[in-house]
Amino acid sequence: MVRPGRLTVLAGPTAVGKGTVAADIRRRYEQIWLSVSVTTRPPRPGEQEGVHYYFVDDAEFDKLAEAGQLLEWAVVHGRHRYGTPRAAVEAVLAQGRPALLEIDLQGARQVRQNMPGAFFVFLKPPSLDELVRRLVGRGTEDSEERERRLRTAEVEMAAEAEFDISIVNDDVTRATDELVSWMGLTPTKRVDS
Ligand code: 5GP
Repeated sequence: MVRPGRLTVLAGPTAVGKGTVAADIRRRYEQIWLSVSVTTRPPRPGEQEGVHYYFVDDAEFDKLAEAGQLLEWAVVHGRHRYGTPRAAVEAVLAQGRPALLEIDLQGARQVRQNMPGAFFVFLKPPSLDELVRRLVGRGTEDSEERERRLRTAEVEMAAEAEFDISIVNDDVTRATDELVSWMGLTPTKRVDS
């Protein structure tokens, strides 16, 4: 059982905006603890150690995985490894604070095995066309990488049925507020409406 805190897992296809929703939560909902993953991916400009990720090399990642210190981990987009540090999640849940993991589908499946009481949320785009548009528009990856991510996205869209609920990311603020409502929090008042 996951109680007394409640663990929510947010997953969904590539470029659907999971990271943007997570950033919105970080900015507007301090009550929610956001897990910081370990990754072997090099940092992008503006990314900070310990805020967006813990950036480690392969040897360090191996050590964490072998020591059982990761709640889940996966190779994402056939390339770099990403994992959730276990101890931090358990400590936060023991304090009764709501916790959120923003991870890929493979990771979500592992958490379902390890923590069956968690709540699983699938973030989806308004349509596959819109997803492709966002994927290409982001422009942070080369064309080979985009192709790889698109293939992953098509497979991941089919996973919706495995989740407790789906949220359409038609608008980040709206999607975030729907997520926090499901997490049992009251959405903050919107200043733009
Ligand atoms: P990016 O490299 O763009 O930051 O993230 C790539 C993908 O890795 C995203 O889909 C993100 O959800 C996923 N991801 C980030 N952290 C983790 C993690 O700890 N575990 C797993 N399984 N996936 C993660």
